[in-house]
Amino acid sequence: MDMTDLTSEQRDAKEWAAEFAKRFIEPIALELDKNPASPARETFIKEAAKAGAFHNLLPEPFGGTAKDLLTGVIIAEEMAAACVGCYMLIGATGLGLTPILLSMDGAAMGRFVPHMVESWETDSPKLAALAATEPTGGGSDIINGNPETKLTTRVEPKDGGWLINGQKIFISNGSLASQITVFAAHDTKASIRDTWSCFVVTPDMDGFSVGQTFDKMGQRACPADELVFDDVWVPEENRVGEQGGGWALNRVIMSVTRTPVAAMALGIARSAYEKALEYAEVRVQGGKPIVQHQAMQLILADMAIRVEAARGLVHKAARAASVGAPSLKLSSMAKTFASDAAVANALDAIQILGGYGYMHEYGVEKLLRDAKLTQIYEGTGQINRFEIMESIEAERSGR
Ligand SMILES: Cc1cc2nc3c(=O)[nH]c(=O)nc-3n(C[C@H](O)[C@H](O)[C@H](O)COP(=O)(O)OP(=O)(O)OC[C@H]3O[C@@H](n4cnc5c(N)ncnc54)[C@H](O)[C@@H]3O)c2cc1C
Repeated sequence: MDMTDLTSEQRDAKEWAAEFAKRFIEPIALELDKNPASPARETFIKEAAKAGAFHNLLPEPFGGTAKDLLTGVIIAEEMAAACVGCYMLIGATGLGLTPILLSMDGAAMGRFVPHMVESWETDSPKLAALAATEPTGGGSDIINGNPETKLTTRVEPKDGGWLINGQKIFISNGSLASQITVFAAHDTKASIRDTWSCFVVTPDMDGFSVGQTFDKMGQRACPADELVFDDVWVPEENRVGEQGGGWALNRVIMSVTRTPVAAMALGIARSAYEKALEYAEVRVQGGKPIVQHQAMQLILADMAIRVEAARGLVHKAARAASVGAPSLKLSSMAKTFASDAAVANALDAIQILGGYGYMHEYGVEKLLRDAKLTQIYEGTGQINRFEIMESIEAERSGR
């Protein structure tokens, strides 16, 4: 990786993350892939907190240590290269806190951020989650704001607070989180663009329960859960941001959070490339290391191109956010390209490792399963592409 355009602090962050990944993530990656609820997961979360990995999610004014988004994505790439599922435990916590950080709601920031930071300095670090997706009509339609979307999670005023009813699915960290930012509709017949608000729910609230934990294809270290809200009452001060402003808030969230997701995909693409190259240098067939066969060189060159090109886009999107101009177009471009690169590189790595690539213990088939999810969450590849075109059309019409 060319690091000439990084500051010394960013280079230090990369080195720190690489060392952390080698020491704490690599040794447990395959174990948590097979057995996600292994005690190794809890130990990892504690080690990550102790090392400051959660503090890196938050800017300094919030008690964190994050310098800028570029530093954040450099860390995400390093950790995801070791195991993206393990990093998701951290990343999904960042996602869960983002509505609060971006809400411009000072009171909410004071109530819902410091206790999380304090917990990361103890032996009981807290995780967070964001719950937007719903089982009926609440997938891509909620991301692109389809006014026809049939929302089912609803909220109504009650006793000076709010009563939430409904269900969310596929929520990363859902069963592990101590705090969940939940989006719900005031009027399920109205357009999502006007009726959604965000609320903080904690698992100790009456009426909250975790339904099934889905049996995932990849990124298995981090659970994806169904969450059920059965007359969950939250006080007024648990509403985050403007009433009815939830969809707009979610839109801003994605202009920031798609870039770290792209960095996670980049980590997978890089890991696939590095594993394939290392193997090709030592595997001898046809009387020479397979890296000397032109057919293998063509594949490896394409893999290297994808990694460099993905990193270029990820860093460009992160730099835009770092100077206060987060761009949904750039973050969607980075996420789309990097996730396609991750899937392509994982497939190529399996091909280069041949039969060994197909076996669990070599860790390459895991990369393919892990990579596929990056084309689905935070908006599918199709929805990201629509949003890129929407931005381009808006630019052309001067909107
Ligand atoms: C493991 C996992 C973890 C997740 N974590 C979270 C989380 O932490 N929090 C959260 O809120 N959500 C989470 N999600 C949800 C994720 O964001 C959604 O799965 C995603 O947005 C797609 O929605 P869907 O699954 O309902 O698919 P659908 O929206 O039903 O899409 C199905 C297919 O149709 C295509 N499609 C949809 N609409 C259109 C259209 N208008 N034009 C053309 N094609 C279209 C899609 O691209 C896709 O190929 C997670 C999902 C998974 C699988």
